Amino acid sequence: GKVLVTGANGFVSLWLVQTLLEQGYSVRGTVRSIEKKDHIVELFKMYGNKFELVEVEDISKNGAFDAALEGVDAVMHLASPFTDKIQSPDDLIRPAVDGTVSILKSAVKNGGSIKRVVITSSMASVMDLYPVQSLFTEADWNTHSLVEVEKQGIKANPIHIYLASKTLAERAAWDYYNSVKATVGWDMVALLPGMVFGPMLQKVNSPDELNYSMAAFFKSLMSSTSDQTTQEAVFSPLGGWIDVRDVAHFHALALKTAEARDERVLIVSGSIFPQNIVVEGVKINPKIPNKFGTEVPASPKQFDVSKSQKIFGVTYKTLDCTVADSMKDFAARGWLP
Ligand code: NDP
Repeated sequence: GKVLVTGANGFVSLWLVQTLLEQGYSVRGTVRSIEKKDHIVELFKMYGNKFELVEVEDISKNGAFDAALEGVDAVMHLASPFTDKIQSPDDLIRPAVDGTVSILKSAVKNGGSIKRVVITSSMASVMDLYPVQSLFTEADWNTHSLVEVEKQGIKANPIHIYLASKTLAERAAWDYYNSVKATVGWDMVALLPGMVFGPMLQKVNSPDELNYSMAAFFKSLMSSTSDQTTQEAVFSPLGGWIDVRDVAHFHALALKTAEARDERVLIVSGSIFPQNIVVEGVKINPKIPNKFGTEVPASPKQFDVSKSQKIFGVTYKTLDCTVADSMKDFAARGWLP
């Protein structure tokens, strides 16, 4: 079959595209602009015409995906902004929500061959930022970030704005899907990954071009100039995490696992503080700065992943492996002390 993957040049998407191609699928990837995307074509050259790249300039526009969806059997929607460089909450919320609704509308209008739509949501849409002791499940919805953004606008913690964008996008997806479900030939799955780490397939010329999760929670911690690293920063619970290759693998499984139908599924390997990453990093490279010792308490924010294990029946990569492979990648780029 042929799968449409949106935001194909992103950190997670590139691993997903690679995984799907390895499994024999044909893939059509969308990017905002085809300019400077030669490296992606190069990356998947060995798959010949099983991989193609198309431009979808503005995902928020009604009908934006009409042409891209032509003849595909499944859709995986990953394009969504993950950045704190914003002027207004709408810079994150509009593309997240409108992009999601727009692709679902196109699937209704033009998706005669589509069997399944997979939406990449996030643990963001279940969790609360405050580090109170909690166990999150798929029955939870993040309401706190929505209230914060409503009250404080751009003055809200930027993480809250991102969490709100993902929560609102997933909610909009279910609302819209439920309103058309009886009339369409496809079903929907939402996957909710923790913070994603791992080696990168995307072209990153310098650390400033890193995607947000690798920049904020990896590069900054491994950097020899992180004198500004504070106790508060490394001991604020990050919540769940997952290896990028596991995220890709779960997405591929979500395409073909019947039991995933109409489910939202948390995919989280474990729960950590940023300091856990530092501790693993130092074991591999003693030059990594560690100002705060090796004792890290258990994270107060836990995630129940029994649903993922029941539906997909797979095991997750462990933090030592993910940190080691990420550091290998960083070392090859000359970014480690
Ligand atoms: P990246 O930043 O690496 O990739 C994001 C992709 O979305 C890029 O293709 C980007 O295109 C595209 N995109 C961003 N903003 C827009 C916009 N306004 N209009 C159109 N396209 C846009 O992120 P990740 O690979 O990390 O994230 C992929 C998905 O996974 C997202 O939905 C994210 O929310 C979700 N996720 C990520 C987690 C993580 O820790 N990384 C954790 C949980 C969920 P361009 O390059 O042109 O900007």
